[in-house]
Amino acid sequence: MNTAPLAILGGTPAFPALLHVGRPNIGDRERLLARINDLLDRRWLSNNGPFVQQLERQIADYVGVKHVICACNATIGLEIAIRAADLKGEVIVPAYTFVATAHALQWQEITPVFADMDPATHNLDPARVERHITPRTTAILATHVWGRPCDVDGLAEIAERRGLKLMFDAAHAFGCSHNGRMIGGFGLAEVFSFHATKFLNSFEGGAICTNDDALAKRIRLMTNFGFAGFDNVVHIGTNGKMTEVCAAMGLTSLEGIDELIATNRRNYLAYREGLAGLPGISLIDYSDGERNNYQYVVVEVDEAVAGLSRDELVGVLHAENVLARKYFWPGVHRMEPYRSLFPHSYLLLPDTERVASKVIVLPTGTAVGELEIATISQLIRAALTHREQVGAVLSNSSNLDR
Ligand SMILES: *Cc1c(COP(=O)(O)O)cnc(C)c1O
Repeated sequence: MNTAPLAILGGTPAFPALLHVGRPNIGDRERLLARINDLLDRRWLSNNGPFVQQLERQIADYVGVKHVICACNATIGLEIAIRAADLKGEVIVPAYTFVATAHALQWQEITPVFADMDPATHNLDPARVERHITPRTTAILATHVWGRPCDVDGLAEIAERRGLKLMFDAAHAFGCSHNGRMIGGFGLAEVFSFHATKFLNSFEGGAICTNDDALAKRIRLMTNFGFAGFDNVVHIGTNGKMTEVCAAMGLTSLEGIDELIATNRRNYLAYREGLAGLPGISLIDYSDGERNNYQYVVVEVDEAVAGLSRDELVGVLHAENVLARKYFWPGVHRMEPYRSLFPHSYLLLPDTERVASKVIVLPTGTAVGELEIATISQLIRAALTHREQVGAVLSNSSNLDR
């Protein structure tokens, strides 16, 4: 970038092409294409094919969990797990998560009740979860936000004491650990996402993990219309099956997982260095004692210190073609149908509201290198240096919120 002005102040964008958050990681193309040839030769394209079976075995080994059922995506996986575990009435969820966590409940007329986070971890605060328990509450469904484990033990203690079930939306957390144990084996069930933008990708896909034999059996039935053999339907079900081509992508991604973690970690450390010492700009930490996938480079902007709001900084980066994203803005409780159903829920979610207004997620993954990260870091530095001009330009333009 050198001395060139910021694009927002009349310079040219630092990047000629858009740099997205969540550009998919593509594994070894040759291995993927060989597998696709195999599955075409076999003419076995779906319905628990050999690649799905292999992926389920390999995930079970990797995570150390007894049962893995692959699904067409994590949202359907959550819906199936929720129904198979007989959750009903009210289920306590974070408001700071992807909307699918709540939708998976509301879709089947179970009421999601939003509890606030611990701002230090962005995860559900067990003490605040407890305040939302009513006679109708049947479960807690917690998200491991950014792959950083929830307070699993705190939540398990409450669930045990209050007679609730505990499940996890582990969409972000493949390859992450809690107290040295891989995420996937906690609670009654955990659900991973293998969506294209997630850490491990199978185009679209997900996996439900559980150590409960009876639950696993029900989940497997429900994923395939309740079929227990030709012509024999023994349970209500849906179509949640993963296809063979998705499993082929999942297997190929899984083979490259160590490299993927190394790339993400290298990027994370490069951002750490690039953003060091910038006032009001803090990068979230990942615990050195745990396994992490470093899939999310998450920055909190403290406007009072930085002199620039999160939205202004996003405006600056978008003008440079860096499509940094606000996450999980504005919070699930402010999205429909929840906003209309529970118009006052924000009153009990002060930390969710605060954090959702501060967070920026920056581009990482195999599509981004150290040079790009150095440039993005310099752009953020320049934005702070020129905060007054930036603020003036943005306050009378529509550049914000592109
Ligand atoms: C991505 C995501 C989901 C949904 O996963 P899909 O596989 O896209 O259905 C659910 N919860 C969280 C927290 C997510 O980030």
